Amino acid sequence: MRAMVYTKPGTVELSEVDEPVAAPGEVVVEVVACGICGSELHGISKPGFRQPPLVMGHEFSARTPSGDRVAVDPVVSCGLCDLCRAGHNEVCRERHIIGIHRQGAFAERVAVPERLLHKLPEAVSVEQGALVEPLANALHAWRLARGTSGSTVGVLGAGSIGLSLLLISKHHGAQVAITDLSPERLELADRLGADATGRELDGEFDLVLDAAGATATRRASLEHLRPTGTAVWLGLLEAAPGFDALDMIRTEKRIIGSFAYSHSDFADAVALAGEVDLTWATSFDLDQGPTIFGELMAGRSDVVKALLRPRSLRA
Ligand SMILES: [Zn+2]
Ligand SMILES: [Zn+2]
Repeated sequence: MRAMVYTKPGTVELSEVDEPVAAPGEVVVEVVACGICGSELHGISKPGFRQPPLVMGHEFSARTPSGDRVAVDPVVSCGLCDLCRAGHNEVCRERHIIGIHRQGAFAERVAVPERLLHKLPEAVSVEQGALVEPLANALHAWRLARGTSGSTVGVLGAGSIGLSLLLISKHHGAQVAITDLSPERLELADRLGADATGRELDGEFDLVLDAAGATATRRASLEHLRPTGTAVWLGLLEAAPGFDALDMIRTEKRIIGSFAYSHSDFADAVALAGEVDLTWATSFDLDQGPTIFGELMAGRSDVVKALLRPRSLRA
């Protein structure tokens, strides 16, 4: 079958690969649409978390052998340990993620554990189904921040997770300001209901959500937090924290790390997908994958979420 393969640092190529084989409890599904994630664009220049050769792709909708349209929760965890039993399977010590630690969905077909399939509601298209994954990230971050009054929210970064954070915050009635360097993305944020948009936050917020993860945005997430407020960090761009620890202590600010989503967050994101506006992805043929991937790596920002779709299911 055809797949886009991460072959060496900085490079993805189209090639013929072996058909996936389903292990016990798994099923091979036909990929309908798979989103290119920001973490993949940055990740392939620094091997470590992902090791080539690898078929990446963890944000996808698919069709099962019985014809169901599904979104697939890509976080495979043990299901038995203390963390899994407490509902924190996203940080299970045995965690391995489809498209990161095992073959993913930039391909015609992929093998997935059957228990991780979620039927899409009638009203949710397969394109929207591929956006359930970023939406689940945002839902998880929002839930981790509960306990903050959260009536004013700052979001740093207007990529697909930042926009999903905007949608979730608005869904819960918050006032939301969102930042990005791209005018196209800010325009889209405006359309999706942002109360303020700009290159930087202005003023103080109860809750600041950092979807970028640059040293500068982590610093900004604390600078624009009111004392006792909460910052949630989801962005994975840089490792250096870049913040003033003494100021954090003196103002009793809280920082929470947020990674992926639990199985129940993902299930709830599937249900929520029909209630928020997820109509901002752009589809490309899987064969165009390496070209689009290269353009996005070089900074193309008019496409907020590129979906790769194998030709076999594009009729
Ligand atoms: Zn992702
Ligand atoms: Zn576990």
